[in-house]
Amino acid sequence: MREIPMPEMIDERTTEVSGIAADPTVGSMTSPAARLLPALDDDSREFWTAGASGVLRLPFCASCVRWNFPPSLRCQSCEGTAEYRTLSGKGRVFTYTVNHHPFNPEVPVPYLIAIVELVEQDGLRFTTNVVNCSPENIAIGMGVRVLFEKQGDVFVPIFEPDSED
Ligand SMILES: [Zn+2]
Repeated sequence: MREIPMPEMIDERTTEVSGIAADPTVGSMTSPAARLLPALDDDSREFWTAGASGVLRLPFCASCVRWNFPPSLRCQSCEGTAEYRTLSGKGRVFTYTVNHHPFNPEVPVPYLIAIVELVEQDGLRFTTNVVNCSPENIAIGMGVRVLFEKQGDVFVPIFEPDSED
């Protein structure tokens, strides 16, 4: 059993890499107005909108056999062309923090901020929220599956416990 990480372990660098809501002012699915929405570009648009079809998609480089995150149509390893493919939407909690601080009065606490590693690739991780799970029940290594929080045209990938895990 590892120690529960403190909030400062999810640092600014992690937040930038992920592109997803680790900002402490960004809340759980209960507060649509609180989340900062990403700017969509050609690289990221499909990542942020594929949730309309209920799937998680990322650019995949067939040469490297590598998923690219943050989403980029130019492979971050070989600079070749990556094409969007669908992932299983399954992952594991790599680490997490329980946020008790009411950074935003509209967002009820506590809520869970986690780094989820997708099952498809070691190190394919991003910062997200885990919902439908109490702080007592989340654990490192726990299986999770994606669901989406609709914010206008954007479908933000968040995760919940995977009942099949
Ligand atoms: Zn590549």
